[in-house]
Amino acid sequence: MKATDKQYEKAVKLYEDGGATAVYDYAKDIGIDEWSICFACETDTPDCKDGSCLVCGSVKTKQLTYWVSIQTGDSPAYNLIAKTKKECLQILRSNDWGPGYAAPVKRTVEYEDAFDLLDKATQVGANLRC
Ligand SMILES: [Zn+2]
Repeated sequence: MKATDKQYEKAVKLYEDGGATAVYDYAKDIGIDEWSICFACETDTPDCKDGSCLVCGSVKTKQLTYWVSIQTGDSPAYNLIAKTKKECLQILRSNDWGPGYAAPVKRTVEYEDAFDLLDKATQVGANLRC
C-alpha cells in the first residue's frame, strides 16, 4: 500500500519534528509497505500514490541501466543495445555486423514511469542508442 495525499501532509509535519525516522515509523504504523529508492534521500523510502517520496516529497525516478556498442561509421540507429555487457558482446560476436563497432559502454537513464521512459526513448534528439 502507498500513502495518500492526506497521509503525506501528516508526514510533512512529522518530518519537521522528528526527521526521516519519524516518517518511517509513521509509514510502518499505517501499513505503507511499498518502499523504493529515492535518489534525493539516497535510500529506500515509503512511496506515495502519486509516485513521490513520503519523506521528501520529490518524484521518485527509476533507473534503467543498459549497454551500447556504438557503430562509429554510420547512424546511431545502428548502434547495438543490450541489458548486460555480456549480452552486448554476444550480439556483436554472433552476427555479421561489419566493422566499426566500439566496445560496449554502460549507460543509465532515469525515468518516472513507463510513459516517461517511452518519451525519452522516442523524442527528437534523445536517441537512447547514442
Ligand atoms: Zn525522498
